[in-house]
Amino acid sequence: MTDPDNKEGASSIQMACPACERELHLPGGCTALNAAAHSCCPGCGFAFETSLEGFTGNLPLTECAICGCEEFYIQKDFNRQLGVIFAVGSLMCVFLLMVLVGHLAGLYCLFALAGIDFLIYWRWKNVTVCYLCTTIYRGFRQQPAHKGFYLGNEEKYKHLRRDWIDTVGSRGDDGVVRNESKTPGLGE
Ligand SMILES: [Zn+2]
Ligand SMILES: [Zn+2]
Repeated sequence: MTDPDNKEGASSIQMACPACERELHLPGGCTALNAAAHSCCPGCGFAFETSLEGFTGNLPLTECAICGCEEFYIQKDFNRQLGVIFAVGSLMCVFLLMVLVGHLAGLYCLFALAGIDFLIYWRWKNVTVCYLCTTIYRGFRQQPAHKGFYLGNEEKYKHLRRDWIDTVGSRGDDGVVRNESKTPGLGE
């Protein structure tokens, strides 16, 4: 059986930098292009928890490289907006068929689309997502301990995430002299 989620050498990490808010797509491990693996944000120098050197698809993903969190969830790697557009488009086709051709044709079309959707969904790649920093790990072997998204965990991590961004955001500023003016009286 081939595992579509595990293609060696094709692992990548998608993250939003907590310090400069840039969206980054970084390769896992060392590549031919860069001999050294990324260990910080290329934009602002924000240091990751660990270097991405050991983050390749053939090694188990146990701890997030960016924040050090050990809890992940699995989700299908597709664009939600695209999914919604596809679903709405399908329903409109079915509706038009029902009005113009007949109810039966519309129903057949609906079943056919449902079948296609199921096949696409079933074959679609999974990605592993960090609960704390929401970094997306593509091309990594799925760990048995990682399950689908659980809202209870998200409730827990929502607060932790805010704290984490506050902490690392200021940590990033130490290395990068950005805006030194600390206006007195602002904030607490
Ligand atoms: Zn950054
Ligand atoms: Zn993380």
